[in-house]
Amino acid sequence: MIDSGIFSTIKLYDKDAYATEFDAVVLSTEPVEDGRFKGTSKVYLDQTLFFPEEGGQEADFGALNGQEVLDVQIEKRDGKELIFHVVKGNFKEGDSVHGVIDWEHRFDQMQQHSGEHIFSGTVHNKYGYDNVGFHLSRQVVTMDFNGPLDDEQVLDIERAVNEIIVKNLEILVSWPSKDELDKLEYRSKKELDGDVRIVTIPGVDVCACCAPHVRRTGEIGFLKVLGRQNYKGGVRVFIECGLRALKTLGSEHTLIQNLAGSLTTSIENVPGQVEKLQNELYALKGSLQKARAELTSYKLKEIPQDQKNVTVFVDDMDNKSVQNAINELTSTHSGFCSFFVKTDSGYRFVSGIAEGDARKVAGALREKFGAKGGGSEKMVQGSLADASEDEIRKVIDQIEG
Ligand SMILES: [Zn+2]
Repeated sequence: MIDSGIFSTIKLYDKDAYATEFDAVVLSTEPVEDGRFKGTSKVYLDQTLFFPEEGGQEADFGALNGQEVLDVQIEKRDGKELIFHVVKGNFKEGDSVHGVIDWEHRFDQMQQHSGEHIFSGTVHNKYGYDNVGFHLSRQVVTMDFNGPLDDEQVLDIERAVNEIIVKNLEILVSWPSKDELDKLEYRSKKELDGDVRIVTIPGVDVCACCAPHVRRTGEIGFLKVLGRQNYKGGVRVFIECGLRALKTLGSEHTLIQNLAGSLTTSIENVPGQVEKLQNELYALKGSLQKARAELTSYKLKEIPQDQKNVTVFVDDMDNKSVQNAINELTSTHSGFCSFFVKTDSGYRFVSGIAEGDARKVAGALREKFGAKGGGSEKMVQGSLADASEDEIRKVIDQIEG
C-alpha cells in the first residue's frame, strides 16, 4: 500500500512526448478486485511514459517487462496524483521495470489531439464558443461546442485549421507561475488547482491540457471534418487528422472507385448514374405492376361464370388493384370473392360479396388461422400467417352464405 507521504508519479510524457522507452521502480501493487480486468494487478511506478486515460483521451498502450499494459489510470490521493498500470504479470514492490509504449498509437493520439486544439482554438477565436466535451479514442474524435455551427461554417474552420497546419507553427508546453497564470488568457474545461500545464500555439490558441502533443503543427498532416450534428443546443463535430484521416479517406476513395467501376462510369458521374438507375427502377416497377394486373385479369376471365366462390392467390399486387378486381368479380360471381397476396410472413387478404356478409370470411379466417382484420358487409381485409392454399379455400367454401 502506498502511504500518503509518497510523491506523485513523475509524468515522463510531460517532458518528452516522443520518448518511447523508460525504466522505473515498482512502488506497490494491488489486485484488481472487479470489472473487466478482474484478476489482474495495478502496478504503481515512481515514473512513467504511459499517458493515463484523462481529459477525454484514452490511455496509452504498450508493455511493462514484456507484459501487455491493459489500462492506465490516474488517481488522486491526499493531493498526490498516482498513476497505475493494469497488467497480468507478477510484479512486486522494489522491482525494476522496463516500459515500452505503443508509439504508433501514441503518435496517432498526438496528431488528433493537436488538431483538436487548433480546431477548438479557431472556433473560440471566431465564434467565442467553448469546447465543452472532447473524446479521443482509436475509434473516434469528437468535440462538443456550446454554440451552433452549420455545415458551411464547419468547412470554413476546416480550411482555416489546415492553413495553420501548413504554417508548421511550434507547439509549446509550459508551466506558468501563479502570477503569470493570473495574467494569462487561456481556454480551460474546468477550474484547475496546483501546477497548470499550458499548451500554446502562438497566435492560434492557449489551452490548459495534460496530454502529449506534436512539436509542430506540420506533423498533424491535415485535418478532415467527417461529420457534424446538433448536440445539446450546440454542435458535435467529428474529425480525423493525419495518418488516421488518410486511411479513412483512402478507403472511402476505393469504395467510390469500385462503385464507379461497377456502374462503368467515372467518379464524377456516379450521382447522375445513380439517379438514372433510380428512375429506370421506378419505371420498371410501374410496368411490372401493369403486366401483373393484366395477367390477373386474364386469369379471372378463365374462371367459370357459374362458380360461386372465387379465391385467388397472387405473389404481388397493390391494394387498389386487388379491390378493383374484387369489385369486378362480385359483379359476375354470387359467392365470396377473395384475394390472398403473399407477404413475408403469410398473406394479406381482401374479400367481398355482392349479396351477403363478407365479415363471415374474416371471422372464419380468424377462427381457423388466427387472422387479423375486418371491414364492412361488402368488403373485409386483413392478414394471416402462412397457411396452405387448399386449407384457406376449404375454410371459405365451408362458410354458410
Ligand atoms: Zn488538450
